[in-house]
Amino acid sequence: MAARVIPLIDQRTHALAAPAHALPVSADGLLLDRLQRPLTDLRISVTDRCNFRCSYCMPKEVFDKDYRYLPHGALLSFEEITRLAHVFTRHGVRKIRLTGGEPLLRKNIEVLIGQLAALRTVDGKALDLTLTTNGSLLARKAPALKAAGLQRVTVSLDGLDDTVFRRMNDVDFPVADVLIGIDAALAAGLGPIKVNMVVKRGTNDQEILPMARHFRRTGVVLRFIEYMDVGATNGWRMDEVLPSREVIERIAAEFPLIPLEASAPGETAQRWAYADGGGEIGVISSVTQAFCGDCSRARLSTEGQLYLCLFASRGHDLKPLLRSGASDDAIASAIGHVWQGRDDRYSQLRADRAPDTGTADGARRVEMSYIGG
Ligand code: SAM
Repeated sequence: MAARVIPLIDQRTHALAAPAHALPVSADGLLLDRLQRPLTDLRISVTDRCNFRCSYCMPKEVFDKDYRYLPHGALLSFEEITRLAHVFTRHGVRKIRLTGGEPLLRKNIEVLIGQLAALRTVDGKALDLTLTTNGSLLARKAPALKAAGLQRVTVSLDGLDDTVFRRMNDVDFPVADVLIGIDAALAAGLGPIKVNMVVKRGTNDQEILPMARHFRRTGVVLRFIEYMDVGATNGWRMDEVLPSREVIERIAAEFPLIPLEASAPGETAQRWAYADGGGEIGVISSVTQAFCGDCSRARLSTEGQLYLCLFASRGHDLKPLLRSGASDDAIASAIGHVWQGRDDRYSQLRADRAPDTGTADGARRVEMSYIGG
């Protein structure tokens, strides 16, 4: 899709855009934005294509055979992605999540994983390297992903009932094949595995309990995501959002739950443990309890736009820097200026307004399949 992009360099002189603000850093010299949030987490979209057509994400009517995906030359190459990821680690990034589109559709993805796995954090540790997938290709690819250096996977799965699941992915994909993929990922050592279920009231909320029963005592952490008003194509309606509070009530009625502390600052999920020791679940309440206060995530689109929020309408174009011979220092400086100028709280601000398809500045929101979930 045509996203609005803020150029980071003067297109004629290739000079870096000058920062128009003070430059905050933390005591250990790492970047902070204007709300004192560090940059620790990078999500990289490696393709805007997907083999599913989930109506809440890539509805068939919009993403049809005439839809214009990015041409291959517009995608960042693996070398470009790795170079940017390296620059981000210099700013404090410790965790990288590959996403899309469906990341396992990107040809030779394990080569990219191998390159990213060789990177180190500023204090010399291995990165937390993970990937979000619909699971359709996992059975085939799990061993190669692990061998390349991937640590964990998160699998999206919206129900266990085959009819419901086939209807939601809208390409008639069977649930059994995703479950085989999850088993293959576990067998390959890609755990602890998280399973993300987007809950749409009236569509799959009857699957909440079957999913909880299925994944209890397996070591898999099931997380329920509120159906979000991302993008502009999914026809989002508030009455289809099932608040996380209700998810917890329904599960707790059968399996008593105990709240857990967040495992890391900036964590998106609120965690709950089964009181009988059956494991844990999480809820991601991006609609009813918007969380921006400690958001430490940046997002890199498939073609090299840096986004500071899922709900942003504008990206910052890094590709001209990459392709015009800029040094790593120059790219690091450009990224630093963008992060240090960041003061957005889109989720919280939108919670104060009626959510709709627009943004705080009235522009069109970027699609989840383009920016990565
Ligand atoms: N194809 C991969 C997958 O299925 O996990 C990665 C990309 S997908 C965009 C990432 C996640 O975003 C998935 O868990 C998907 O269910 C979630 N997602 C997409 N649209 C959403 C929406 N409107 N509300 C909540 N979650 C959404």
